[in-house]
Amino acid sequence: MKKLTCRDLGGPCAMELTGDSFKEIGKKSYDHVMEQINKGDQVHKAAALKMRDASQEEQRSMMAEYEKKFNEAPKI
Ligand SMILES: [Zn+2]
Repeated sequence: MKKLTCRDLGGPCAMELTGDSFKEIGKKSYDHVMEQINKGDQVHKAAALKMRDASQEEQRSMMAEYEKKFNEAPKI
């Protein structure tokens, strides 16, 4: 299992997310961001919009960066 924060994945807060794979942690990150948006959190909304509005190329490089962070994170 590995641990990243919301911030490591392009988000605005220090919420900790854990998962056994990048895919799992990505799903938790998505759920977390959606939950915050549903609560009316503007900062998470801005982060989600920024991700959505990025070009495919930019999204690819963001995802590659997040995956690298996951791969480099120590096992817990
Ligand atoms: Zn967050």
